[in-house]
Amino acid sequence: MEALKIDYDLNTNVEKFIVTNQAKQLFINGNWVDSKSGKTFDVEDPATGKKIASCAAGDEKDVDLAVKAARNAFETGSWSKMAPNEKGKILWKLSDIIEEHAQELAQLEALDNGKSVVVAGVADVPLAVDLFRYMAGMATKLEGQTIPGSFLVNNTLSPGAQFHSYTLREPIGVVGQIIPWNFPLLMASWKIAPALAAGCTVVLKPAEQTPLSALRLTEIINDSGLLPEGVLNIITGLGEEAGAPIASHPDIDKVAFTGSTEVGKLITKASAGNLKKVTLELGGKSPAIVFPDADIDAAIQGVASGIFFNHGQTCCAGSRLFAHEKVYEKVTEGVAEIAKNIKVGPGMHDKDGSQMGPLVSNEQYEKVVGYMESGKNDGAECLVGGTHDNSKGGHFVHPTVFSKTNADMKFVKEEIFGPVLTTQKITDDDLNNIASEANNTEFGLAASVWSKDISTAHKMASKIKAGTVWINCHNVFDSALPFGGYKQSGNGREMGFECMDNYLETKAVTVNL
Ligand code: ADP
Repeated sequence: MEALKIDYDLNTNVEKFIVTNQAKQLFINGNWVDSKSGKTFDVEDPATGKKIASCAAGDEKDVDLAVKAARNAFETGSWSKMAPNEKGKILWKLSDIIEEHAQELAQLEALDNGKSVVVAGVADVPLAVDLFRYMAGMATKLEGQTIPGSFLVNNTLSPGAQFHSYTLREPIGVVGQIIPWNFPLLMASWKIAPALAAGCTVVLKPAEQTPLSALRLTEIINDSGLLPEGVLNIITGLGEEAGAPIASHPDIDKVAFTGSTEVGKLITKASAGNLKKVTLELGGKSPAIVFPDADIDAAIQGVASGIFFNHGQTCCAGSRLFAHEKVYEKVTEGVAEIAKNIKVGPGMHDKDGSQMGPLVSNEQYEKVVGYMESGKNDGAECLVGGTHDNSKGGHFVHPTVFSKTNADMKFVKEEIFGPVLTTQKITDDDLNNIASEANNTEFGLAASVWSKDISTAHKMASKIKAGTVWINCHNVFDSALPFGGYKQSGNGREMGFECMDNYLETKAVTVNL
């Protein structure tokens, strides 16, 4: 087989990592191994459509081996019973090691996903590092409670003093984790770091479009020698072949999934066999609501970055703009002007000024283009963008803003997952009516509210049915803040203390004193 070639001068370990004759392997029980079937799949550069690597295509046999390794590691207690401060020290060291590889990981991410290498360097990688560091502290803070009861003994209330009750927080066991392609390294970190802090062992499947950064992360972790074998296992492969067996595996105690609502429903069904716990972080159709008293320049910038960040391939993208009629023209024109000036090009060529890379795959390109066509067919007017280009193998879609849209249009209802903003005029001053328009979606992941009036802003925050509300900002994340969805945007939360509920069981212990 010929050595693979890449088009960029990277000058880091990335070249060594991907320019190789060999398919990247699975990581099971501390070893790099081929898939049992010997099958592989190709990984492409979304800016050119050219192959940049190939990876082992795992299936149920490989998943089974990984689960056995994770089960064995969990039961021996090499990680699950390690002292919390030791676990914390290891997670902190891992955060340092990942940080040392920041440039390389940002390049890998840009190459594999198509995003701007600068954005990957200031967002994806530092957020991933920060979450490991935050979770290092979490390992020593998994506390139970002492609970005063009004105890029933033989159907009569007995004086509480006879009994002493407390809760223990215990790792849930072997966890399966399935992640998407939009923030590959960050999603891997959002999943792996809290599971490790809780003392769980992991079988993780990266998205087939973007497996490289999770594999390199695993290599970095493995080279550090800090994790006992079997604690972290990585199975690359296709959704139906490698993801579905994770969701249905009888010896996985919990599955954590991030991806589309459609696949989230499949995961829920597949997990029913052993009633494993399921947490889901799914799609969104987040509103950005601009009131006339907002700082309009800031709102324009914020709405534009709310939708165009990561090419709109963000589950919490502010994809539906609601602007009050008094400021609607100014806001939509302002966002359209920004859209017009965003330079689209390969993410790796950011130095030449490209600010928005290609969409991740041809499938995604076709989907987004299809939504733009459906909007036009439904009578929406394209203010800017609407253009796209895959003639040279890359999957480029220009930032796009539509007016004359309404809640009945398919592309206003469904998640586009591309750089496409739909806009609607608010013609009402009643906050309940405005909230009910914004809430008119099956999703409930996030929203932003733009107003200088603290009363309006906080009232709206309470009326919005979503797991995150940003006031005078959009897409602001912090490792300490829980993130997740209402309604069909999922259940469970990532990050923060709340995330630990995903990976812990609570045991109530009562002692007869
Ligand atoms: P998207 O539509 O954005 O590509 P998906 O929800 O299809 O997102 O994919 C997210 C993750 O789910 C990927 O790792 C993918 O391989 C995986 N996946 C896809 N289909 C299934 C399935 N039937 N069972 C389990 N995992 C799946």
